[in-house]
Amino acid sequence: MTIILDGKKLRDKILADLKIRLSNFEKKPTLVVILVGDNPASKIYVNNKKKTAENIGINSIILNYPENVSEYELLSKINELNQDSDVNAILVQLPLPKHINKDNIINSIDPIKDVDGFTPTNLGLLFSGQTPNVYPCTPKGILLLLDEYNIELDGKHVVIVGRSNIVGKPLSQMMLQKNATITVCHSHTKNLAQITKTADVVVSAVGEKIIEENMLKSNCVVIDVGIFKDDNGKTRGDVDFEGVSKIASHITPVPGGVGPMTITSLMLNTAELYSAQLNRFIK
Ligand code: NAP
Repeated sequence: MTIILDGKKLRDKILADLKIRLSNFEKKPTLVVILVGDNPASKIYVNNKKKTAENIGINSIILNYPENVSEYELLSKINELNQDSDVNAILVQLPLPKHINKDNIINSIDPIKDVDGFTPTNLGLLFSGQTPNVYPCTPKGILLLLDEYNIELDGKHVVIVGRSNIVGKPLSQMMLQKNATITVCHSHTKNLAQITKTADVVVSAVGEKIIEENMLKSNCVVIDVGIFKDDNGKTRGDVDFEGVSKIASHITPVPGGVGPMTITSLMLNTAELYSAQLNRFIK
């Protein structure tokens, strides 16, 4: 029988524990989220982050800028937040409007406050096999979920579909460090199904319906990162859940799989940066 990897259940367990650990601190950590424009999906994500943070004892401040804000204004604000000892974690909600150079903005965040782990310093540490200040949230959440269900990666062939800087690339490194053999696929990959058929673990992070039952071998583990609305307005993932559930050993649902684990990792990362800044550890 296929086991559902329940991200909500694990989220609740980890956040309940984190709430207790945070209550031992004299002061709450502060997470600042920079949101630009009125993208409805971004607003929902940011509000969820704020609600979750406040439920467990993290101060959360949303700075909402108009769509036409200048890159200079954002850089000035980030510089100010970098200097502010009351701010422990900074997150810039992506995507940003086209007139703003996303890399300039990300690169300006102090790596010790870079809660997404996206700065070149933190990604560089990860890719060189060193320990970054924090690991990017979605890959970290996926590894926590696999660990909770005792899914071993050592010696396994993992196929990751999608090579973004926020999911596929960092996940490939994190899984490589767990001694998996990694294949990363993308929009130029030929014969995707032939490759996914050889996988013990498939992670799909594309944002469209792409993974079907006939592309997989029996008893593989399937992690669905994708999340989007189908033609009927229903939230769904990259994977044909119904078909794939017939042959996979483990599968994440959408919603309720990777999504809750991403937000859980964000909370863990905020606490880790805070304790690193205090030069104390709360693990
Ligand atoms: P992205 O930056 O748009 O990257 C998508 C990746 O998919 C790219 O590497 C692209 O290849 C690849 N791709 C596109 N079409 C393909 C095809 N036909 N075959 C194989 N690969 C293909 O997206 P992202 O930011 O990583 O997000 C991906 C999905 O995950 C989205 O639905 C997003 O909403 C979701 N997401 C969910 C969470 C969560 O917490 N649940 C977190 C992050 C993202 P190229 O590089 O060649 O263009």
